[in-house]
Amino acid sequence: FDMFILAFVERLLRPTYRKDDFVLGKKLGEGAFGVVYRVSLAKKPSSKKEGDLVLKKATEYGAVEIWMNERVRRACANSCAAFLYGFLETSPKKGAEYWLLWRFEGEATLSDLMLSKEFPYNVETMITGKVQDSPKGLERENRIIQTIMRQLLFALDGLHSTGIVHRDIKPQNIIFSEGSRTFKIIDLGAAADLRVGINYIPKEFLLDPRYAAPEQYIMSTQTPSAPSAPVATALSPVLWQMNLPDRFDIYSAGLIFLQMAFPALRTDSGLIQFNRQLKRCDYDLVAWRKSVEPRASLELRRGFELLDLDGGIGWELLTSMVRYKARQRTSAKAALAHPYFVREGLLVLSFMQ
Ligand code: ADP
Ligand code: MG
Repeated sequence: FDMFILAFVERLLRPTYRKDDFVLGKKLGEGAFGVVYRVSLAKKPSSKKEGDLVLKKATEYGAVEIWMNERVRRACANSCAAFLYGFLETSPKKGAEYWLLWRFEGEATLSDLMLSKEFPYNVETMITGKVQDSPKGLERENRIIQTIMRQLLFALDGLHSTGIVHRDIKPQNIIFSEGSRTFKIIDLGAAADLRVGINYIPKEFLLDPRYAAPEQYIMSTQTPSAPSAPVATALSPVLWQMNLPDRFDIYSAGLIFLQMAFPALRTDSGLIQFNRQLKRCDYDLVAWRKSVEPRASLELRRGFELLDLDGGIGWELLTSMVRYKARQRTSAKAALAHPYFVREGLLVLSFMQ
């Protein structure tokens, strides 16, 4: 009960905003469910020219996204971009729109960084805060990728421990926070909060087929639909155990791991082709490897070499994430304890983290 009072008081003390408070800057994204802008406050022009806030104007799904962001900011704030405020804005012209406001975390998503020729060294520079001069090579690349995977799994573990499944984990939804020098998750528009049954029935049309696990639906179709009011708390942990919906995100994270190891899979067409090949191998990564390795390009072989370092623990972790059956996939927490992460990663020059 105290928690409710605290949340309420905190909510009252937090600054509230209205439509006219913002000056729109660059458009950062536009999907079927909303438009995202970089913005600044009209009254308080920001130090940065383009503004230090991000505004999303969303359709009806904005309500769920506000709920998810409010929950994240109380339970696992470091996992996601810092959420400031969400409200309903109605106008005669546009009807009802949900407006969501975050801190502007940084210029680059993992997708932007991965598509650069410099990857993963560009990320190393951003995480450590300086250009490293040790010789380039597999070992160094592996260490950078390991650090990215650790940060991603850390953020996912936070969400999953809170009872939230993201369902749209992909490089475009992972932002590099320049403040904390870590990757954070964004875009909770397709997320599900299983503890209270919010957005319980998966909106499968929201899922990105490039990164979606084969089960597509995070809960079995037999699961009864949850009440819309938050009263299913006592029931849902059991369902969580039974269905392991968090493993949906683990599959997506595994595909990102794969894309980091194999440059050819970083493009849309490369990933789509890989998905086709994996499906033909009945989602068995080991079978996929057997099928492609004999006629592999130098670049592809290099990817396997990277994953084979240190007795193949990278490959071992990867194959424990990308599996057909959700219950055979590792959890975020278990993955963080995997021997792949025993070796020290990059030093993050930040007191947060
Ligand atoms: P959607 O995918 O529904 O359009 P997102 O929430 O993913 O909306 O945001 C779109 C894009 O805006 C992201 O890919 C990212 O480039 C940028 N963005 C979103 N939130 C932030 C943030 N807090 N800081 C910096 N950039 C952001
Ligand atoms: Mg997005």
